[in-house]
Amino acid sequence: MKNRRIVTVLLTALAMTLSACDQPVTQKEEAGAITAVMPTTLFVNADIITVDDSRPAAQALAIRNGRVLAVGSRQEVEAAAGQGAEVRDMQGKTIVPGLIDAHGHISLTALSNGFANVQPLPAGPISSIAQLQEVMKSWDQANPEATWLMGWGYDDSLMAEGRHPSRYDLDAISTEKPIMLTHVSGHLMACNSKCLELAGITAESEDPPGGVYQRVGDSQTPNGVLEESAIYKVFGLLPAATQAQRLALLEQAQAYYASHGITTVQDGASQLSNIADLQTLAANKKLFLDVVGFRVLSKGESIGEAFTVSSDYQDHYRVGGIKLVLDGSPQGKTAWLTEPYAHPPHGQGEDYKGYPRLDDTEVNEFISESFSRGFPVLAHANGDAAADQLVNAVTLANEALGAADRRPVMIHAQTVREDQIDQMQALGIVPSYFVAHTFYWGDWHRDSVFGAERASRISPLQSTVKRNMPYTTHNDTPIVPPDMMRLLWSGVNRVTRSGKILGSDQRITPLEALKSMTINAAYQFFEENDKGSIEVGKLADLTVLSANPLKVDAMTIKDIRIEETIKEGKTVYFR
Ligand SMILES: [Zn+2]
Ligand SMILES: [Zn+2]
Repeated sequence: MKNRRIVTVLLTALAMTLSACDQPVTQKEEAGAITAVMPTTLFVNADIITVDDSRPAAQALAIRNGRVLAVGSRQEVEAAAGQGAEVRDMQGKTIVPGLIDAHGHISLTALSNGFANVQPLPAGPISSIAQLQEVMKSWDQANPEATWLMGWGYDDSLMAEGRHPSRYDLDAISTEKPIMLTHVSGHLMACNSKCLELAGITAESEDPPGGVYQRVGDSQTPNGVLEESAIYKVFGLLPAATQAQRLALLEQAQAYYASHGITTVQDGASQLSNIADLQTLAANKKLFLDVVGFRVLSKGESIGEAFTVSSDYQDHYRVGGIKLVLDGSPQGKTAWLTEPYAHPPHGQGEDYKGYPRLDDTEVNEFISESFSRGFPVLAHANGDAAADQLVNAVTLANEALGAADRRPVMIHAQTVREDQIDQMQALGIVPSYFVAHTFYWGDWHRDSVFGAERASRISPLQSTVKRNMPYTTHNDTPIVPPDMMRLLWSGVNRVTRSGKILGSDQRITPLEALKSMTINAAYQFFEENDKGSIEVGKLADLTVLSANPLKVDAMTIKDIRIEETIKEGKTVYFR
């Protein structure tokens, strides 16, 4: 994590340097000049994947004033660009449309940068509870001023001990300082005894609505693992960072996304405080990627009259809509299913199916209010019971308000059934699949969570492509790193950590996978007129790759490097 922090700081510096030497002519200068000089950049000798079906491939591209001026053969593009263009020889590198983060959390990614990294490979170093204890002890020594010991992203499914760390495991690190470790799903947390004490969680505490305090054996004593809504009790106690610290972490996170070729970033569960921070960062002119925030609504909250959304960016930021969380995570076994888990989690019986976060009435009301006020909606639904809840709510809202182009998004949609995909198509619900799961937790899903049959059709991309309906894919960063080439590779290959294929009939082609993070993602954001393909008039948001994912051996797609990221004509990352 330390290294990553240094790297991202360097990247920010590099990006600033690069963009400083590529400043466009300002409005004032243009007005004052006798003949307006608009800098044009010509990219030649490139292998361009336009993601525009009417002209899928090209060799040259001209951009001016942050938009695409021409795309095609070198001859065509040179003619359109005229004299005096800056020529860049791309030496055969591949250019694709700027990659779009269809779902993730830049605010949480920023926050996680301030925590110890306790993730498993390849995102972190941890494979056992003993190792986790060592990492947290070192973090404590390296951060003597820290009043809380905070770790990000432990994964019980990949722990040698095959379980969550308990309060007693964490008490071995410290009994004086509170310790909290977030689970890799972001839906659970492990606490030591001091943390439980400060949160007031005791044997007498009843589980909160939409959450669980796991217990020691058959007793009522909390074992330190908190599920779903229970984790917010602890989040509320964490020491507050200063605004300057928070903004600096957001800038680091932005550079991190840029280094992965991403030009539009989502903040997919913003608290009002996150919205305020991003607005401040934007007003300070520190955003160079587009960031779209979706305000998360929790149980008992109301949207409020003052809340609004916008389709226009203000200094690269806009509030894009509402986010609901309908259930938990499959890898944490809190996703809400219609059929029982293959192996129930700690403390649950054979008929355990997970549970909802909100009741039907709340979901129906949130959806109908959002629709009637014109707010786009993202709804996290991992389990098929949660998917039913969303489908029903959208059906009711459409019946009451009439159909319209609302593009509600089912985030994750990991276990949607064929009959549900039919309903989603009829209702215009866009599935955004967390297909990176096939690699990160594919073996765990097959062996412990779902069993072979259900696991083989998680994130059913081919079922969606076959119906010719829009779909996107995502990494849900910081749940997994924003590695878009690994995500693309996952959709194409569906290979697990152990090298087995999970559901070969749900694989899609590299171009179909590329569409899920370009043109389809632009559609999901209502931005397909400006983004998602390399077409004349669209924004010059471009990602330069070391190789062409449509031409290389499909198993090597994950090894393709991001060479350069260009946002509206400006280089914001260069390898
Ligand atoms: Zn989610
Ligand atoms: Zn998420």
